[in-house]
Amino acid sequence: MLDKHLLDLLVCPVCKGPLRLAQTEGRSELVCRADRIAYAIRDDIPVMLPEEARTLAADDPLLQR
Ligand SMILES: [Zn+2]
Repeated sequence: MLDKHLLDLLVCPVCKGPLRLAQTEGRSELVCRADRIAYAIRDDIPVMLPEEARTLAADDPLLQR
């Protein structure tokens, strides 16, 4: 699992805001609620590249929590 301390250090590369760890269907992502972007985590390594991230719909459940 991703190190909690590492998680605290990570910010969204777009807005520098906080990220929230989300787990759906066995997949982990780091969600920026401000930008509605979900960054992938591959092999416990966050991929902090906007071009590799997926954009969430305004009503995506990941944004509701
Ligand atoms: Zn952001």
